[in-house]
Amino acid sequence: MCERFGFDANAIARRVHLVGLTGTENFGLGLKLQQLVIVPNASVIIEDVLESLKNIDQFEQIVLDNSDTDRLVGFQKRYLSGLGVDFISPAYFEERLRIGYVHNKIGVPQSLYQTSFRTLEYLLIHNIPAAIRSDPAAFDDLLKFILKIMALDMSLAVESYCMTEMCGLEDSLQNERGKTQRLRQLAITDWLTDLHNHAYSRHLLIQKLEYAQQNDAPLCVIMADLDQFKKINDEHGHLVGDHVLRIAAARMVSGARTGDEIGRYGGEEFLFVLQDTDIDAAAIVAERVRSRINSDAIQHGEATINVSLSLGIAQARSNDTVDTLIERADATLYAAKLAGRDCVMLERRS
Ligand code: GH3
Ligand code: MG
Ligand code: MG
Repeated sequence: MCERFGFDANAIARRVHLVGLTGTENFGLGLKLQQLVIVPNASVIIEDVLESLKNIDQFEQIVLDNSDTDRLVGFQKRYLSGLGVDFISPAYFEERLRIGYVHNKIGVPQSLYQTSFRTLEYLLIHNIPAAIRSDPAAFDDLLKFILKIMALDMSLAVESYCMTEMCGLEDSLQNERGKTQRLRQLAITDWLTDLHNHAYSRHLLIQKLEYAQQNDAPLCVIMADLDQFKKINDEHGHLVGDHVLRIAAARMVSGARTGDEIGRYGGEEFLFVLQDTDIDAAAIVAERVRSRINSDAIQHGEATINVSLSLGIAQARSNDTVDTLIERADATLYAAKLAGRDCVMLERRS
């Protein structure tokens, strides 16, 4: 936790210096505080702290029953037994930061927390034994030590409060980012096949066509359409049709290359956008996709469904718009259907 809150050895030394606890005499004062004030009076001090807290409305809302009070007493005992002992150690800082963190997490407001520090500070001073009080120099030393050690502990508690809030904010920001990302994904994805949807397919094509034309790079689109799909629906029902669409889409992805963009352009019609790809390379991809689609019959319950795909390819020209390019790919797809389906057609080179 120390590291999470930025307390490495240097930061610990700086904080100890800041509150004025650098002198070695402070180690002895820490032990004195324990032996003369805390050990003999721990129960009374804790009782008094709780008593003073009970007068605060906010406290009642947090501490609900006896078991809460018992837990709090145990907590205070542990806290007091370590107070001022080995305060330059990472373990001391760790414990103090953790206390603040836990109090914040269970909903103790920072103001209430600080109030109880002040009360505790007063009670420690109040319980300095008469033997020390009668020696002004010794009393002064112990008094200053109590003020300094409480300043250290309170500074760490406040720190962990603030950092916990910030971590909470960061977590919720992260959550928001995650939600936005998921929404964005939903907005561009076809609900049935998980491929790109129509709008996003066109959006990608606009971008990639512009890039190809500006850089004189080859670009191909493939229009693909499942064959006799109406018959599949008619024979097996719409739900089976949906299942076939999903399987076919997955097979398309497996037949295409990484980076090829595939979208469900219409009901059983798909648009592939192949960047930096000329028509010969596109034909290889298209042929692989075609053979993947009809490689195995699709099984659904009792039904065995044979499915095939017709594909038409067009390569982008310098004066193409998205519409003229898609129109030419559509025309070659139509030619593939006319040629008997389950085949790949390339547009005639002009
Ligand atoms: P062709 O080989 O000429 O393409 O014949 P086809 O039967 O595939 O073409 P047609 O255009 O006559 O029929 C397409 C069918 O696709 C009709 C429509 O009900 C079905 N279809 C479109 N979208 C979906 C869908 O989301 N789910 C299901 N199950 N069927 C769909
Ligand atoms: Mg069809
Ligand atoms: Mg169709």
